[in-house]
Amino acid sequence: MNGALPLDLIGLDRGELRDLLAELGEKPFRVKQLWHWLYHQGACDFESMTTLGKDLRQLLGKGHLAGRPRIVRDQQSMDGTRKWLLGFDDGNEAEAVHIPDMDEEGGALCVSTQVGCTLTCRFCHTGTQLLVRNLETREILGQFMAARDALGEWPTPTDGTRKITNLVVMGMGEPLFNYENLKKALLILMDPEGLGLSRRRITVSTSGVAPLIPKLGADTGVNLAISLHAVTDDLRDQLMPINKKYPLAQLLAACRDYPGLSNARRITFEYLLLKGLNDSLADARELLRLTKDIPAKFNLIPFNPWPGALYETPALDKVKRFSDFLFEQGVSAPIRRPRGQDILAACGQLRSESQRQRQSLAKARQAAGIDDDDHAPISHN
Ligand code: SAH
Ligand code: SF4
Repeated sequence: MNGALPLDLIGLDRGELRDLLAELGEKPFRVKQLWHWLYHQGACDFESMTTLGKDLRQLLGKGHLAGRPRIVRDQQSMDGTRKWLLGFDDGNEAEAVHIPDMDEEGGALCVSTQVGCTLTCRFCHTGTQLLVRNLETREILGQFMAARDALGEWPTPTDGTRKITNLVVMGMGEPLFNYENLKKALLILMDPEGLGLSRRRITVSTSGVAPLIPKLGADTGVNLAISLHAVTDDLRDQLMPINKKYPLAQLLAACRDYPGLSNARRITFEYLLLKGLNDSLADARELLRLTKDIPAKFNLIPFNPWPGALYETPALDKVKRFSDFLFEQGVSAPIRRPRGQDILAACGQLRSESQRQRQSLAKARQAAGIDDDDHAPISHN
C-alpha cells in the first residue's frame, strides 16, 4: 500500500501554491485562478475548475485535495445558534459555532485554534480536556470553509448578504499558543480575492500571552480581545495560570503597545463575572483605573456553568449594576447574552463531545473494575 496522503491545498499561501504549480509545469498566473476556485467559489472538485487547463485539472486531481473537516455533529439551538463538531484526519475534533445577529443580517463564526487547551483556567470547560494539540492552518480555515458549506454560502457573497460577517477566534484553545498557524489562516481569510473578510471584522481573544500581543497587531491588524476576568494578580493567579507567567502589569503594557489603537478602535476587555469573587462595584472601579490609558471597551460575561464547575453566576441585577456603573463612567460595557445554551455552545463551554464520551467510558470502566491501559493521549485510526 502506498501511504502518501493527498496534499491539501487549503492552508497553502499564494507563494506555496505558486511553487506547487511550478512543479506541475504551470505558469505563476494560474495561482490567481486556483485561488479564486478554492476561496471564492469554494470548489472542492478540481474537475469543476473550468478556467484551469484539462491537464492541470487532472494533475491536481491526482494526489491533491481541497479539504474540509468532517462534520461529526451539527446541532441547532432554539435561538438560531448552530454548533458543529468537526473531525480532522487523525480523529481529533474541535467545535465551531455560528451565532446569527439578533437584529441584523449576518452573524459571527467562532472558531477553535487547538483541540482542547494547555491552559487550565479554572472556570473554563475547554481547559479540562485532556487531549491537546495545535490545529493546522488548514484546520483553522477548514472550520470557516465547512461552515460556509453548511450555510450554503458559496461563491463568497459580494452584495452584503453574508451569513458569516464576522470571525471571532474564541473557541477552544489559546490562539497565541498556535501563533504561526493562526497568522497564516488569518492572512488567507483576509485576502480580498478569496474569503475576503476584513481585518475589522475579525477578533482574536487571548488569555494574555503578552509577548505576542503587539506582534499579532503588527502582522494582521485584527481586533484584539483580552480575557481579563480579575483586577488583582492574586485572584487572576488563582483563576488563570497564565497570569503567573505574564502578570497584569506586563499584560496591560502589551495592550498599550497594540498598534493602531484609537477611540474608534479599542481593545475589548472580556470580564467574566463570578459570584462573590470579582463582581463588586469596587472591582468595576479598579477595572477602570487599570485600563484608563488604553482605548478600551468591556464585554461582561456572566459565568456559564457546566457540570462540575466550581463557580456560580451572579444574580442578574448584580451584573446589571456592574454594567450600568461602567456605562455611567462613559465606557461601553454590554452584558454578553449567552447564546446556544441548550446545545452547550456558549463561551467557555466548548469541549469535544467524543472526549467527554471517552472520559465517561473510562469512568464506567474504572467503576466496573476493568483495567484501563490506555492512558496515553488517544490516537485514532
Ligand atoms: N483561549 C482564549 C479564547 C477562548 S475562550 C481566551 O481565553 O481568551 C473565550 C472566552 O470565554 C474567554 O474570555 C474565556 O475566558 C471565556 N470563558 C471561559 N469559560 C467560561 C465560562 N464558563 N463562562 C463564561 N465565559 C467563559
Ligand atoms: Fe484555554 Fe481560554 Fe479556556 Fe483559558 S479560557 S482554558 S485559555 S480556552
